[in-house]
Amino acid sequence: MPVPAFRTSPARKRKRRSHLAIQPEKTVLCPNCGAARRPHAACASCGYVRPGLQIKGSEDV
Ligand SMILES: [Zn+2]
Repeated sequence: MPVPAFRTSPARKRKRRSHLAIQPEKTVLCPNCGAARRPHAACASCGYVRPGLQIKGSEDV
C-alpha cells in the first residue's frame, strides 16, 4: 500500500487548513417582509419564493 513520501510539515498543514474555517450562513433580505432568509430558499417567516409564488401564509393561495 502506498504511503506518503514525505511527512507534511506543520506549516503546510496549517496552510491547507486555512480554508477550512466555518463561514457564517449567507442571508439575503426578503423583498416581501424584510426578514433575513437564505438565498434561493423560501422565506421562513412569510413563505415568499418569487413573484407569484408564496408557499405559506399568503391570502391569494
Ligand atoms: Zn418574507
